[in-house]
Amino acid sequence: PVQPEAAAPELSPSPATATAATPEGGVATSSQIEVPASLIDQVIGQERAVEVIRKAAIQRRHVMMIGSPGTGKSMLAKAMAELLPKEELQDILVYPNSDDSNNPVIRTVAGGRGKQIVAAHKAEAKKKSQFRQTLMMLLMLGIAGYAIITMQLLMGLIAGAFVFMALRYSTPREEAMVPKLLVSNDTKNIAPFIDGTGSHAGALLGDVRHDPFQSGGLETPAHDRVEAGAIHRSNGGVLFIDEINTLDPHSQQNLLTALQEGEFPITGQSERSSGAMVRTEPVPCKFVMVAAGNIDAIQGMHPALRSRIRGYGYEVYMAESMEDTPENRQKYVRFIAQEVKNDGKIPHFDQSGIDEIIREARRRSNRKGHLTLKLRDMGGLIRVAGDIARQENAPITTAAHVITAKKTARSIEDQVSDEVTRHLREYEMTVVEGTRIGRVNGLAVTGSDAGSVLPIMAEVTPAIGKEGGEVIATGMLKEIAQESIKNVSALLKKFTGKDVKNIDIHIQFIGTYMGVEGDSASVSVATAVVSAIEGIPVRQDLAMTGSLSVRGDVLPIGGVTYKIEAAAKAGIKTVLIPRMNVGDVLIEEKYKPLVTIIPVDTIDDVLKYALVPENSESFLTKLKKMAMRSTAMIAEAPEI
Ligand code: ADP
Repeated sequence: PVQPEAAAPELSPSPATATAATPEGGVATSSQIEVPASLIDQVIGQERAVEVIRKAAIQRRHVMMIGSPGTGKSMLAKAMAELLPKEELQDILVYPNSDDSNNPVIRTVAGGRGKQIVAAHKAEAKKKSQFRQTLMMLLMLGIAGYAIITMQLLMGLIAGAFVFMALRYSTPREEAMVPKLLVSNDTKNIAPFIDGTGSHAGALLGDVRHDPFQSGGLETPAHDRVEAGAIHRSNGGVLFIDEINTLDPHSQQNLLTALQEGEFPITGQSERSSGAMVRTEPVPCKFVMVAAGNIDAIQGMHPALRSRIRGYGYEVYMAESMEDTPENRQKYVRFIAQEVKNDGKIPHFDQSGIDEIIREARRRSNRKGHLTLKLRDMGGLIRVAGDIARQENAPITTAAHVITAKKTARSIEDQVSDEVTRHLREYEMTVVEGTRIGRVNGLAVTGSDAGSVLPIMAEVTPAIGKEGGEVIATGMLKEIAQESIKNVSALLKKFTGKDVKNIDIHIQFIGTYMGVEGDSASVSVATAVVSAIEGIPVRQDLAMTGSLSVRGDVLPIGGVTYKIEAAAKAGIKTVLIPRMNVGDVLIEEKYKPLVTIIPVDTIDDVLKYALVPENSESFLTKLKKMAMRSTAMIAEAPEI
């Protein structure tokens, strides 16, 4: 039974109590915190990246930022645009080319001048076309007069109609000569920041629109169809591209050329379009590139592009968490204030609300004594909590709102995980009581916050292949299993006298709909295999997580808090975790009475707890004989 979260304080405290100073003398509400004016000063916890951005901005260097989503990469890129020297901003104009209409002319002028030039040209064109119209009018009148005088009515009418049509339907030549403002820096008093993430080639490199008419006086002149790309619009500023590896190789190649040359002609990107015949003179694109991505981005990136950025700039790895110190907690409070201010609609947070957010930041960091820096998600939680407070007309957001928000603002992975658990239970695939041979309740975490119980089944048969025993499993599991079986094989031989070389080991994860990450299942796999070989049942009201070293030590793993919570939710009573993870355990209050958490150091400990004593007596006696693994290893050493 899951206890309701009754511990939450009363809703809507009076403003007087809410703003009272805290005993420790900290801030009482986030409204008392000043939010820095410049974006770079608002960045929290990424001191290294901030320093790099400041330096790179002065020198106009490129930057590559690698790290998890929502840690502030695009925020830093935007901040860099604010810091860039502004004096060189330009407007870019495209003019028709009277010698070759398919090769429009490019001119740059000082920022803000472009609009004036276009306006002047337009006025001039208007004047000229008015003059022409007047001339035509006179001509028409002349013809009409002549027709009346000479009584040649028909001729007069035909001629008049001709002139009228010409006037009505032809694009006046003068207007076709007006230049087009490609890139305007008119109203901007800071360098442009352009986000080119996920752009197709045309949006990134510029394009020339198709002209369905192409002739007969109805065509749009080539220069009028030219469109600037992100690389041109960011001229003099910052071009930010996230998930850089997803940009197709051809575009990456072109991007590299643009970086090297500082100018890039615009041509129609679609081959069958009439735009493909048009190619402008080179268009300036002196931008500072800020490329971003997660760690895989490095592999997917065009090597030449990466080396260009490296050679002419900086690479930074974004921090995922910061230490949980009073100073950093204070920064977190400022972060809350910033998010409240940016949102503009939600109420500020009182001390209890702030404390609850910081508690959650600790949990999400997955690391002892740290606060998470995946701040986009934290910002989401702050907004949901604020929305709940606003719906209740509360003057301030409190812990109660944050706790409710946590239930609403759950990740997709976490929701899926719950759904899967429910399904498994329906089919009675989750076993949380009794004992089973070769079956272990492992624990996994998907995404960053979705824990789940991951049952593992092992079965052994005499080896079929001539080359000896095999590990039979699919995908990721095979790797994990081979590794962990290698690690326990010496142990197995000692305990059971059986050589894994003579048996086939079949291993299977039960009911995983989501991928399994890392080797945190290796302790569970090893336990399942020992149980299967020896025929000793495993307790099913117990779950475990841990990574196994070659020496049989249980090594720390990630996501321990979420794993324990998942076990508790599934009805498991005991959870074995690596001792080194003890400090990372920050489970919610409501789960605490439901599970016993036991830290373990070695696989021996795991087996002692997990295997059922009555049946494993002889086995455990063997275990006891080896007082410690290290002694055993030393004893074994001379044999090698
Ligand atoms: P990324 O580009 O790394 O995916 P963003 O820069 O788009 O992340 O972050 C999204 C939002 O999260 C920001 O607009 C800001 O509100 C908040 N945020 C993220 N990282 C930080 C940070 N280091 N300091 C302050 N706010 C942050």
